[in-house]
Amino acid sequence: MIVVMKKNADKEKQDRLVDWLKSMGLGIHVSVGEFQTVLGLIGDTSKVDMDLLESLDIVESVKRVSETFKCVNRKFHPDDSVVEIGSVKVGGGHFCMIAGPCSVETEEQIVTVAKAVKAAGADMLRGGAFKPRTSPYDFQGLKAQGLELLKIARAETGLPIVTEIMSADALPLFEDVDLLQVGARNMQNFDLLKELGHFGKPVLLKRGLANTLKELLMSAEYIMASGNEQVILCERGIRTYSDYLRNTLDLAAVPMLHELSHLPVVVDPSHATGIARMVPPMALAAAASGADGIMIEVHNDPIHALCDGAQSLKPEEYAALVKKVQAVREVLA
Ligand code: PEP
Ligand code: MN
Repeated sequence: MIVVMKKNADKEKQDRLVDWLKSMGLGIHVSVGEFQTVLGLIGDTSKVDMDLLESLDIVESVKRVSETFKCVNRKFHPDDSVVEIGSVKVGGGHFCMIAGPCSVETEEQIVTVAKAVKAAGADMLRGGAFKPRTSPYDFQGLKAQGLELLKIARAETGLPIVTEIMSADALPLFEDVDLLQVGARNMQNFDLLKELGHFGKPVLLKRGLANTLKELLMSAEYIMASGNEQVILCERGIRTYSDYLRNTLDLAAVPMLHELSHLPVVVDPSHATGIARMVPPMALAAAASGADGIMIEVHNDPIHALCDGAQSLKPEEYAALVKKVQAVREVLA
């Protein structure tokens, strides 16, 4: 249920209303927007007397929210959320470019790529240290050592770092990571999501390989319901019946997620297509769809990459793409 407050509603009366609703065992999410304040009621609202609420002089209207996702729902929070990762803002008109290799391999590799993508205009550096691989015989990532190398690259460039967490057990290692990625394979690892809610650091939540938008939003709800509002959604392609492409990039998900939720939406055209030459056109399409950011795999030596070389752009290809993305953004403005 949401309670829309009247413009300039008396603050003391509003506080008293919030306390009264809390005394009924409800969680209250207060969203103070530019034009209106909305109270989002979470929990069993069946005993709440809507007519009584509506009769209060500080209340504009009361509506039931039928969707099962509440905290992530745009009805609870009409304005776009802006997620802040250090000095980088994402959402609400703030656009971010995330780039870097699939996996951290060596200090030289990650620092070289970090410098190159920074020079090209990237805002954040990605790189996997804990890698979810389909085969147990494939490179599994440098793990803790990979995180240390990412920190070195951050120190060299000033770029905030984005890296995947696969298990809540590893959380102590992620204290100094700027944006924690939940990969497609872990989108419904509910214990991990709850722990990330308590951990409190910004989370990049990727859509699962075969998950619906509602399921993605419910996973974001797990993080938010556990107390963390800093969530970015990521569309990275889903399994359909594509044969020549790694996945099917569901770009209509971007405007639909924006309609349903206030959370920022980033697109990953690298995992969506699996082919480097498909990445630039899909990145431009993602920008045109209204995405709040684009995450792209970039490697200084794609042929010898330990993971996902075929979909990795070379630094010069990335630099050319950033310029085109900026041009698309200008058209949208
Ligand atoms: C990744 O970003 O490196 C990754 C493994 O992505 P996904 O979880 O989308 O497959
Ligand atoms: Mn990858």
